[in-house]
Formats: sequence, structure tokens, C-alpha cells
Amino acid sequence: MIDRNLALALVQAAMAAPELPALGHGARMVATYAQLARRAGSLAAALRQRLRLVPGDRVAIAARNTPEFIEILYGIWHAGLAAVPVNAKLHAAELGYILDHCGARAAFVGRDIAAALGAHAPAGLERAIVIGGDEYAALMTADPAPIIARARDDLAWLFYTSGTTGRPKGAQLTHGVLDVMSRAYLAEVDPVAPGDGLLHGAPMSHGSGLYIMAHVANRGVNIVPESGGFDAPEIFALLRGWPRSSLFAAPTMVNRLIECAADFPLDHLRTIVWGGAPMYVEDARRALDRFGARLAQIYGQGESPMTITRLTRAEIADREHPRWIDRLASAGRAFGAVDVMVADADDRALPADAAGEILCRGGAVMPGYWRDPQASAATLRGGWLHTGDIGALDAEGYLTLKDRSKDVIISGGSNIYPREVEEVLLRHQAVREVSVIGRPDRQWGEVVVAYVVGEAPASELDALCLDAIARFKRPKEYLFVDALPKNNYGKVLKTQLRARDASRAQTPQSMPPARGPT
Ligand code: AMP
Repeated sequence: MIDRNLALALVQAAMAAPELPALGHGARMVATYAQLARRAGSLAAALRQRLRLVPGDRVAIAARNTPEFIEILYGIWHAGLAAVPVNAKLHAAELGYILDHCGARAAFVGRDIAAALGAHAPAGLERAIVIGGDEYAALMTADPAPIIARARDDLAWLFYTSGTTGRPKGAQLTHGVLDVMSRAYLAEVDPVAPGDGLLHGAPMSHGSGLYIMAHVANRGVNIVPESGGFDAPEIFALLRGWPRSSLFAAPTMVNRLIECAADFPLDHLRTIVWGGAPMYVEDARRALDRFGARLAQIYGQGESPMTITRLTRAEIADREHPRWIDRLASAGRAFGAVDVMVADADDRALPADAAGEILCRGGAVMPGYWRDPQASAATLRGGWLHTGDIGALDAEGYLTLKDRSKDVIISGGSNIYPREVEEVLLRHQAVREVSVIGRPDRQWGEVVVAYVVGEAPASELDALCLDAIARFKRPKEYLFVDALPKNNYGKVLKTQLRARDASRAQTPQSMPPARGPT
């Protein structure tokens, strides 16, 4: 078996360039490659010998962005285990569901999350280790263990995406998938040289974390802001001390960066990669005005991480090109590692410019969902990943995303699945029907709005949500109506509802200001 363990890259970096900085926390360098590799090796030894975990076991990580995330991730891989990074903003009940579903035997958690998890911890979870706590420090004292060999098809990262059924599904990202993804990024989006920085402003459990491997492979520096989250002035302040740095940012984050950019020098900024949600063309133009040829775009999803299409720096900056605006409005062209097709309901390729579902296949696509053969078969039918996104390919291969067929709401860079919120609201006795939609919002991308048939007080609906789901998923406004628009089969027509909501928005007196995600 050829060893494909992703953790080999860290071991090799430590041998080739032991003194090179590997990890930063705020302005400080906290580990060289030799130090990071040693800590990952120690943690791997402790996981195997003290916690008695065996290759293939799942280990969860639930914390705000923290530098330890990287040594934990590589320690897990070094020991032949699989990582399950979980969004720190989830409600404890949601976290408990994921821990149970993936069968995690151990979890590394932030202090606040450890306290909240309590009764929601599943029976199979043997250990919840507080990151930075005494037990954590003790694990780090083990003598480093040799790396455990892994094959391409072995599970490396279980990436939970909330499904339309309201229950999260675990996309199985193997060592092979993450290897293809990282190589594709380095070859087609951003070559990384030793010492180049990556600033983790977006969540490391999700978008930003996937960039770690490419930067370790090419010996860049992963830098975690002290705030553990996204704060535009903090990002610019970090750039002072970390030259040649890049970051991944959701479009709403790019907008916030544009607002502050004038106050800071940009010489140290290498690339802003945007993705995860659609960007309005006007915003892309403003970003280009501010940042120049430092922008790239990626379109991917958990099931084909970071790797469906990409719009390069040169394409974004080529204002003289006759089709520049069309290209700017698109998500670019397919990565070399995947085939992309736009298909009709029977999976037949559609002609240029016709809209249909976006399908994708290739080395970056997951082999299936964890313990969900039905959803895996449906999503991967015919050997193609069915993305659930609607788009069109033009004659030159540029893909424009039209809509998300799954009606996902993306607010402040986080995905919110309407059905999950609807199910909670329907628990109220006075709610007869409900439909949740996203309303475009300049600051947050979208905000959650609930259309309710029934007499329930908004405060009681809010309380129900606070009790069951993450705060950021809570509707920012409840609108009480006599009936919801429906088709002949009784299915609620969300498109009509969104249109109705948009026309209300043009009557300002009827719209209270929207609260942002909290
Ligand atoms: P996730 O699996 O949570 O990463 O969410 C993936 C979804 O985000 C995709 O299926 C798209 O709907 C959306 N998305 C990702 N990248 C882009 C992009 N560059 N432009 C528009 N939407 C995007």
C-alpha cells in the first residue's frame, strides 16, 4: 500500500525545514514546523496509547478558531484516526446529534462548549477533552509515535453539512479527496511558497480549515486571529506582521473588508479567495477597485470540497476583456481535477446557456455520506455528484450559478436550512403552517424570515428557537399571513414567497430593521 496519510506532509516539512514558522496566533509565531510536527506526533501517541483509539476511529473537534485546531487535526491523522470538525456555533443538541451519528469516541472541545454539552453528550463519547486544559497538556507529554499508514480511500475528515431533511449529513472526505483538493488549489488558484501566510478569519471547522493542508504541503504559515473569529480591522492589523498572506472569505466578509481597506496598507495581502455563497457583481467590482488583482473565487461544496469551479485572479482583473462582466458574474471554469455538467432532470447534458442542475465528478468528490446509503445513492446517482445548485455553462465553459435549488439561506457566511427552522416553529400549538425564506441583506448576505399561518406571539416562537437551534438560525422577523402560496400538490412556493417578501421590502414603513445573526 502506498501511504497517502495527509500527516506525512507535516512530518516531511519538519525534516526539510524544521526552523520555518508553521503556526501563528495573532502577531506571534507559536510553532515552527519541527515544533508543530512534534506536538502532532505526541498527541497521536497519547490518542493511541492512553485513549486506546484505533485506526479509523472518529475524533471530533468543536471550538472557535484556535491554533490548537491544527495540531489536533494532524495528531488525529498521524494516529490513523478520522477528524470530525464541528461548527462551534451549533446548539449543544445539534452537536450531540453529530457526535452520536459519527460515533466519536473522543472530542476536543472549547471550554464553553464543554460546559454546554452536558446532558447532550452521547453515551458512546468516552472523553471530551478541553482544548488548552490540564488533560490536554498531559496528552502533549507523550513521546511522539510513528505515523500510521493510510490509503487514498481511508476517511480523513467527516464534513457535516445540514441536509434539507433538517438532519446533518456527513460527507466523507478521504485522504485522497483532500490531497486532490489541495493540489488543485495550489495549481489553479494560488501557488503557496514557504513562509506565505494564511489568515483564518472564516471558521476552521468549515471553509477556512480546508485551506490548511495546501499551506502545510507547501510550508506556508497558518495564522489564527486572537479573536477566534472574523473581524476586518484585526485581519488588516495581522497583515502588518505576516507578509504575503491570503485568506478565504465569504462574500459578506469581503464586503466588510472593503469597508475598512482604505485605512490600512495592502502590500502584504496576497490573495482573498471568496466563495461559499453568491457575490453580487457590484460587490465584486468594488472588491476589485479596492484590492486590485488579489482576488480569486472558488465554487465547491462539502461533497466536493473547494473543487468544482474557480475564477482566477487574472480573469477577475481582466477589465479589458469583452466578456469581463459576464465572467465576473460567474463562478469560473471547472478545475482540471473534475468534470462539470449542467443537466436536466434525467441527467442529460443541457446545451450552452441552458439552466439545470450542476453535476460534478472526479477525484475531489466524496465517495458518499457517512452511514446514509440512501442519501449517498441519490446524491451520487450515475456516478455524478448532484450538487442541488442550479446553474448554466456558457460556450467557453464558464459556470453561472442561478439559484440554490435546496433553498439554503446563507447568513453571515453560515448555512441555514429552512426546514430545520420550520420544524421547530411548527412545535408551537398556535402555528398551523410556516415557511422560512432568506431575505437579501447587504450586511449579512441574507437574513432569515418566517411566514407564519397562526396566532403565536413572536416572543414565544423566538423562545422555541433559542431552546432548540443555534442563535444565528433564528428568524429575524415573523410575518403573520392567512395562507401560504402553494402549487397544485400543496407544496409551498418559496419562489413566490420570496417575490412577495421583496415587494414588501419596497414599502419601507412595513419593514422593521433586520437584526443580524447573533
Ligand atoms: P457547503 O457545503 O456548506 O460548503 O455549501 C456549499 C454551497 O454553497 C454550494 O452548494 C453553493 O450553493 C454555495 N456556494 C459555494 N461556493 C459558491 C460560489 N462561489 N458562488 C455561489 N454559491 C456558492
